[in-house]
Amino acid sequence: MSDRVKRFILPESEIPTKWYNIQADMVNKPMPPINPKTKEPLKPEDLFPIFAEELCRQELDQENSWIDIPEEVREKYKYYRSTPLVRAYGLEEALGTPAHIYFKNESVSPVGSHKLNSALPQAYYCKQQGVTNVTTETGAGQWGAALSYAAKVFGIEAAVYQVKISYEQKPYRRSIMQTFGAQVTPSPSMSTRAGKDILTKYPNHQGSLGTAISEAIELAMNTPNCKYTLGSVLSHVSLHQTIIGLEAEKQMAMAGEYPDMVIACFGGGSNFGGIAFPFMRHNILEGKTTEFIAAEPASCPKLTRGVFQYDFGDEAGYTPLLPMFTLGHNFRPANIHAGGLRYHGAGVIVSQLLKDGLMRAVDIKQLDSFDAGMLFARAEGIIPAPESCHAIAATIQEALKCKETGEEKVILFNLSGHGLIDMTAYDQYIAGNLQNYEVTDEDVQKNISELEKII
Ligand SMILES: *Cc1c(COP(=O)(O)O)cnc(C)c1O
Repeated sequence: MSDRVKRFILPESEIPTKWYNIQADMVNKPMPPINPKTKEPLKPEDLFPIFAEELCRQELDQENSWIDIPEEVREKYKYYRSTPLVRAYGLEEALGTPAHIYFKNESVSPVGSHKLNSALPQAYYCKQQGVTNVTTETGAGQWGAALSYAAKVFGIEAAVYQVKISYEQKPYRRSIMQTFGAQVTPSPSMSTRAGKDILTKYPNHQGSLGTAISEAIELAMNTPNCKYTLGSVLSHVSLHQTIIGLEAEKQMAMAGEYPDMVIACFGGGSNFGGIAFPFMRHNILEGKTTEFIAAEPASCPKLTRGVFQYDFGDEAGYTPLLPMFTLGHNFRPANIHAGGLRYHGAGVIVSQLLKDGLMRAVDIKQLDSFDAGMLFARAEGIIPAPESCHAIAATIQEALKCKETGEEKVILFNLSGHGLIDMTAYDQYIAGNLQNYEVTDEDVQKNISELEKII
């Protein structure tokens, strides 16, 4: 008992030097993104006006399994990496399960979530190319906070369009972005064409992610040396996030175990891909049989109830068409507290993997996610982000199955972030004011049927 290890920490010298690109090892590659006007597959050059060039190449790279992490990025990773791999003894005891539960604690980053793992390389590649300004949109503010910090680290300016209602209701994430020196603008704003058009028609518009994306892309297109960035969904984002799983692989070896199951919450798929792909590599290449489970909100069930179809990545229809599991780009998810999981589609890699049966998905109701988050907080002393609560709920379900069967399965999940800036959500849960949101088959069908016209 006394010599049991709680946290497995890698020395800095063991921080990985390469990211893992699962596209190269997939038997069925993701289908290409398509230009909606010409209906031709996209080439990296087509994306150069919007994103840094190296990121465009990474996005479409289906050949190189390993991509070097630039030494400058690895130096900045050292500010918070390696992150601990933790054996959840407290949670195991609270559940009375024979399962061995481990979690990778990505909440220890300066901004409290995994998002910095991709913000740092994105800012770096922009800087390296002579870009002086980056822009993005943010809802709850997790991605905006990560990009603001990363831009400061590499000495470039960040302009963040934050959905107006979040700007007003979540003042602390806004102050985090401002602390790191970003310019934060509530969207819709008068600073862009797209914003002006909306405000002229609807002066009291509360904003949406779709509008904020349009504003950020417009700014990037119209400003010299300014690029747009995205914190989820795209393949280069999950590539950067594989640092999570690559570290976890070494740390699981320190613990003398290998996971039977890997679980993560799912918004666009970046933290899921980040922890899952390095382990999935061994399923693909060596016939290992680890199970991979994505936990999505029942109110935004693209993996469990969506269709596999070409669709736009954004509400407004500005992006290329992507082959994805989707609820339709017009799907309006309920206003759950796990804002990072309110996205209508899944990244193209994960969509292909789900189609091919290399992973599965479960849906979690809002109240069940917070039940799980409360239990975890009391057992392990970390208050999880509302998004991460979904991964914990799925882990608890599996651990309770083990309790019934007596199996000592090894379960690894990703703690994508902490919830210390989301305490209003916990407040409402404690006061009994949180609710579940049902999605009817009609809701799902309505937007999906419109998709058939797209391609
Ligand atoms: C953004 C976010 C997510 C969801 O995004 P993915 O790309 O699916 O990982 C999950 N957890 C936290 C804490 C987030 O900030």
